[in-house]
Amino acid sequence: MMTRYLSFFLFLIATPVLTGQTDNQWDLLITDVQVFTGEKTLKSTDLGVKDGIITHLGPELDRQHRALNTINGKGYTVLPGLVNTHVHAWFPLHLQQAAQAGVLATCDMHGSAFATKFLGQFQDSVGYARYYAAGSGATVPGGHGTQFGMIVPTIDSTTSARQFTLDRIAEGADYIKILREPMRPTLSFEQIDTIIKTAHEKNVRVVAHVSRCADAVELVRLGIDGLVHIWFDRAMTEEELKVFEQHEDLFIVPTTLTNIKVFAFFEQQAEKPEVSLDSIGLLDEIRRLHEAGVQILAGTDPPNFGINHGSDLYEELILLSAAGIPNQACLAGATVESARYFGLAGPQPIQVGVAADFFMVKGDPLKSMEALRELEGVWQKGQRIYPNDKQ
Ligand SMILES: [Zn+2]
Repeated sequence: MMTRYLSFFLFLIATPVLTGQTDNQWDLLITDVQVFTGEKTLKSTDLGVKDGIITHLGPELDRQHRALNTINGKGYTVLPGLVNTHVHAWFPLHLQQAAQAGVLATCDMHGSAFATKFLGQFQDSVGYARYYAAGSGATVPGGHGTQFGMIVPTIDSTTSARQFTLDRIAEGADYIKILREPMRPTLSFEQIDTIIKTAHEKNVRVVAHVSRCADAVELVRLGIDGLVHIWFDRAMTEEELKVFEQHEDLFIVPTTLTNIKVFAFFEQQAEKPEVSLDSIGLLDEIRRLHEAGVQILAGTDPPNFGINHGSDLYEELILLSAAGIPNQACLAGATVESARYFGLAGPQPIQVGVAADFFMVKGDPLKSMEALRELEGVWQKGQRIYPNDKQ
């Protein structure tokens, strides 16, 4: 009698599992893999994807539910797509190069309204990095940003700083970029103040190009949201560091790789500019900022100095790790924190219900950042886009 009741009971609980079997089937199942969600690390877990969405994440999923494609993830790490928070993209090819390396979002820091519109069309296309843009950076006639052969709007006698900012917002800029560069004619702090106030009125963030420490300090005092270069002229004083420390939610994209190439470029010049910082000093500035609570994000400024839109971002992360930022903080910065600080839609932390946008490397970048160079696969909306001969 007891057995009969028991089998009836077992039948009842087994039925939903059996009928749910086709529903639960995965398009992709990665087993026993380490997942860095962007916030925390899950050791030896399973990750299931269905219809482009992460539907399961947890240890030892019931593998009776067959997957169309199962990958043994032992010894590998899955991470959310990287964000390159300082690029200049001109062609769709740049967004493809980024995506192929697991860089699934890029922030353009100075381009034309035409390019912004054109590249924006690839926004949701599999195989391309998501493209966010400032449009044209704010500069003055003859200033930094006007020397690249494209016609850019400037702040001049006919366009006020306020109007310039409103024009960029009307064009759909995701954030406003300011170019403060004293090597050329440049914006005054008064004009910069107007840009920041106008953008903030419209709930749009403002970031800036700087190359001098004193400019960085002044812009932070004016309430800028982020700096997309670190200075290269000298180390900050303890007093200046306090200014950065006191600005809540400040972020800096130090473009370390770029600045090291700047130092090498200066070395070749007959007339070297006055610079007291070197590569070691630069890494130390980044460490001091991190320890003061400033969020460090990853950006490489391609195509300057021949830097690519893809794998060179790994080199930036290797440098940030060498600067003394813990790997987990570096990787959070290069993924979900970039979205949070820039106010972007993604990447979101890896979790059930979000788009299956991630990449997988051999080894453990949380222990050794060099593991990023061992790229095994990139998926967007559950489709494997790298290498493209594999499912
Ligand atoms: Zn740039």
